[in-house]
Amino acid sequence: MKSFDRPFPQFIGNDGAKNQIAAYLQSGQFPHALLIEGPTGSGKKTLARLIAGAAVCENAEERPCGRCAGCRKAAENIHPDVEEFSGTGGERSFHIDTVRVLRHNAYILPNEAEKRVMILSNAHQMTPQAQNALLKILEEPPVHLLFILTCENRAQLLPTIRSRVTVLSLTGVSFEKAYPLLKEKLPEANEGDLRRTFTAFGGVIGPVLSGFADKGLSKALDLLPRMAKALLSPDDWELIALTGEIEKDKETVKEVLNGLHLLFRDALMLHYGSTATLSTAPDAARTLSAALSGTRLTALIKEVEGLQEDTRRNMNQALLLSRLVTRLRSAAIG
Ligand SMILES: [Zn+2]
Repeated sequence: MKSFDRPFPQFIGNDGAKNQIAAYLQSGQFPHALLIEGPTGSGKKTLARLIAGAAVCENAEERPCGRCAGCRKAAENIHPDVEEFSGTGGERSFHIDTVRVLRHNAYILPNEAEKRVMILSNAHQMTPQAQNALLKILEEPPVHLLFILTCENRAQLLPTIRSRVTVLSLTGVSFEKAYPLLKEKLPEANEGDLRRTFTAFGGVIGPVLSGFADKGLSKALDLLPRMAKALLSPDDWELIALTGEIEKDKETVKEVLNGLHLLFRDALMLHYGSTATLSTAPDAARTLSAALSGTRLTALIKEVEGLQEDTRRNMNQALLLSRLVTRLRSAAIG
């Protein structure tokens, strides 16, 4: 079987992972279970669907051909041999019942393609019971089956699962590589804003796109310099008022925390003489760097990381924001 030397030109960057997939397509030998790991928004699901498409392509000469019925159905997410499973989004929301369904379906022969593909999105949300229920079939799957799991980091899965999958790691990409896609998706945005936002998210495209689309990001970008100023004010009220502006919006809070993390990191770097800034609020970084000691800036970074952990645990929003005020204020001026 011949195939593209460079599969998935529409999937930007991540040449390491793509070369790995090219080798599988070239040899016609796919591992029976792939795990795609990478940060939120790095394209795990997109890549999983592209690989699934290649697996159900009907063109033996060139896979994925992009033209056959298999490719077209996969692209529209309506191929009967590609199934997606996931939890409802929260931690441990991917239950054993779902795994029982997929175990049952796994033995059904493919309808149209040579392969049946099961995509298990955010596999780290599986309960330990669900992961254990998956083990056996992951170890000895029917020959027609390809599993594609996704998660942020392989360490989130049980070691017994990790040892049964082949890992593809995704990372962020350079602004230059991402720019044509960003410009196509966000024609209204100017290059400077795109570059700053892109850098703020460590080269991961998803959050930039969704941030611009849902206005949550612009809210976060607007808040960051004001929060930096409020951190240094004589009392807590200024910061409390600012958190009031985001108390109903979980996603914006996440973006604010990401932004604060970069801001404090930049301030610390400036403190030690580096000029490379990553944050979207370079003036605020300079102000903090001049006003606070290295120890305080380091403490602020630690506190933000703690709060990010709290959001991952789905902490009550009001509690989280009151923690944000007390902890950041005490790290900054306490
Ligand atoms: Zn095809």
